[in-house]
Amino acid sequence: MKIETRAVHAGRQIDSTTAAVAAPLHLTTTFERQADGSYPTGFEYIRDANPNRNALEACISELEGGAAAAAFASGSAATMVIFEALSPGDHLVAPEDLYWGIRVMLKEHFADWGLETTFVDMTDTTAVERAVRANTRLILAETPSNPMIRITDIRRVAEIAHQAGAYFACDNTIATPVLQQPLALGADLVVHSATKYLGGHDDTMCGLVVAKAENPLFQKIRKLQKTAGAVPSPFTCWLTLRGIQTLPYRMRAHCENALQVAAFLNQHPRIEAVLYPGLPDTAGYQIAAKQMSLAGGMMSILVQDDREAAMAVAAKVKVFTRATSFGGAQSLIEHRASIEAPGTKTPDNLLRLSIGLEHADDLIADLAQALK
Ligand SMILES: *Cc1c(COP(=O)(O)O)cnc(C)c1O
Repeated sequence: MKIETRAVHAGRQIDSTTAAVAAPLHLTTTFERQADGSYPTGFEYIRDANPNRNALEACISELEGGAAAAAFASGSAATMVIFEALSPGDHLVAPEDLYWGIRVMLKEHFADWGLETTFVDMTDTTAVERAVRANTRLILAETPSNPMIRITDIRRVAEIAHQAGAYFACDNTIATPVLQQPLALGADLVVHSATKYLGGHDDTMCGLVVAKAENPLFQKIRKLQKTAGAVPSPFTCWLTLRGIQTLPYRMRAHCENALQVAAFLNQHPRIEAVLYPGLPDTAGYQIAAKQMSLAGGMMSILVQDDREAAMAVAAKVKVFTRATSFGGAQSLIEHRASIEAPGTKTPDNLLRLSIGLEHADDLIADLAQALK
């Protein structure tokens, strides 16, 4: 079945006791044990498993074409648990423009813990090959990446990882399973910040790991989920599952709007560059065309001159909201370098745009006046 149909039905069934069509929200922390000591529904305690989390995990696993999924309290927690499932002394290859918070986690926590990371330009597969060592256990990529919107060749990096005997994890937050299916292209794990497009309404934080097979790495991830408990609440799972029902249609509208906004900005004299894989003159276009069905709703722009010029554009928007995060109905604009930290490689004149579900004409008009 097509993804529109699967997004509506995956992980959902009519409630057997009430016939409720919308999924019931089970806030219970604990489940009754039978006189013989058994748990006939399989549920014992909220942290181990619960109906709303199981439903969300079944849904994302089906949409990504995985064998299993584990839900976490945030995208950051989901990624952290992948690192924790490795061992001290292991080596990891990660993109140099990796999501800022996760880069900090690797540099300031996991380095001390004994996990060595080499940061590379993930679009340069020769550099990725060179970075691999005998103890490389994981290659992590983000494509499109945040905030440089770089495109990694998933198939090629998966081959490099597997030749090295390493796992390949792909952050699919920006593309979502609607636009890109990393597991089918060779990835072993997909990770999501469901806080973004999957939730889709700027109102809930959640992370997901999907595994192509229940391999030893995923078994460890599942164990850490249950024992360490960096898990989402049932309500978070319920909201995320609800968001996913409309994901394919939202993604289509985000992509249509983004393509129009990108075309407008690309010919604007005050814009030095538009980083958007839907534009034929951008670096990742060819690979994106191979592995994504549409180019997504996220772009970054480099404003002519400097940081002040970029800040001035962000200061003047009226329909866009100046805020971090992305993937909701409202369009957002953000000066990334100043939210990251001193020492970031993000250009000072870069603004990241999350193109929302407003009409493209209104978004273009807003940017046009802000760029005057
Ligand atoms: C937001 C984001 C994260 C972190 O997710 P949280 O849910 O905010 O913890 C990780 N990776 C990418 C690509 C993101 O955009």
